[in-house]
Amino acid sequence: MPRIWHKTLFKLLKKGHFALLGHFPMAHMYVKIGQNCHFYAIPADGFRFEMKPGTTSAFATHACTHQWHNLGEANSMRILITNDDGIYSPGLAALAHIAKQFGDVVVVAPDAEQSSMGHAVTHSRPLSLRTSPVPFEGIEAFRVNGTPADCTALGTHLYSQIDVVLSGINMGLNVGNSMWHSGTLAAAKQAVLLGKKGIALSTPVKNGYPKFDLLQPYINQALEILFQSPGVGLWNVNFPFEPKDIIWTRQSVRQYDGTIVPGLDPNGAKHYWFTVTPLAPAEEGTDRWAIEHDLVSITPLRLDLTDEKELERRQVHQPI
Ligand code: MN
Repeated sequence: MPRIWHKTLFKLLKKGHFALLGHFPMAHMYVKIGQNCHFYAIPADGFRFEMKPGTTSAFATHACTHQWHNLGEANSMRILITNDDGIYSPGLAALAHIAKQFGDVVVVAPDAEQSSMGHAVTHSRPLSLRTSPVPFEGIEAFRVNGTPADCTALGTHLYSQIDVVLSGINMGLNVGNSMWHSGTLAAAKQAVLLGKKGIALSTPVKNGYPKFDLLQPYINQALEILFQSPGVGLWNVNFPFEPKDIIWTRQSVRQYDGTIVPGLDPNGAKHYWFTVTPLAPAEEGTDRWAIEHDLVSITPLRLDLTDEKELERRQVHQPI
């Protein structure tokens, strides 16, 4: 059994829900935990259950031989994978591969790169859904001539039982102010608007591709935590190039320098590059700070941008 599942099961044991003993061969299984009905996929190399004192052995037997298996069949988590780098991105393939451990996966991604498109949606022309030109190891995969938000909307429309939308793994960080124009995060935001859990995942690129094998245990850990969290939820997760640990963070909102750099095209015509450089060091506890310290950053976000303190102040001191 992969280490990550050992860890999950160990946590459950500590909560006293059940103990694992011996071997009970089964291809794939899902486990109900206490009253909360969370589900975990457990790649099987054999196990069986024994309930803690307080539950009857008859119930435990029933659970082992019938109920858990049926729960697995009926309640497998359904995961939609998308991104803003496009259907050919190795980050998309890596995420789809990892997500397969947790449930049923379908990929619906833009047919071309849509980075920095933010939360744009296509309303003035129809969208098409075509089979992916690259294989995804037995996973259904499609490309869309639209934006990341379009892909989430279309994917959750076509696959109505989607529980969670994973967007990424973006080839480039999405920390601090880059959240405002991130297409990766927008796909997750669109999920939340549609009543699904949305998780954006990003990592920097240095000298070629990210080291996905090295990131995988941390991606597993982050997904394990976020899949267990109740409710919908919007989450922005960033992985440093070589992670050392994982922490909760808040968004860095220090000002940045949106510098316009002019240049000349091959015909001598003026053109411009938009560049983004932070103006101030990252504050401790923020997403940028975490990445600078080789820590995986998980930031809980919300769609409501209301400045609560200012609203309260205005209502009290400037009633209208
Ligand atoms: Mn991107």
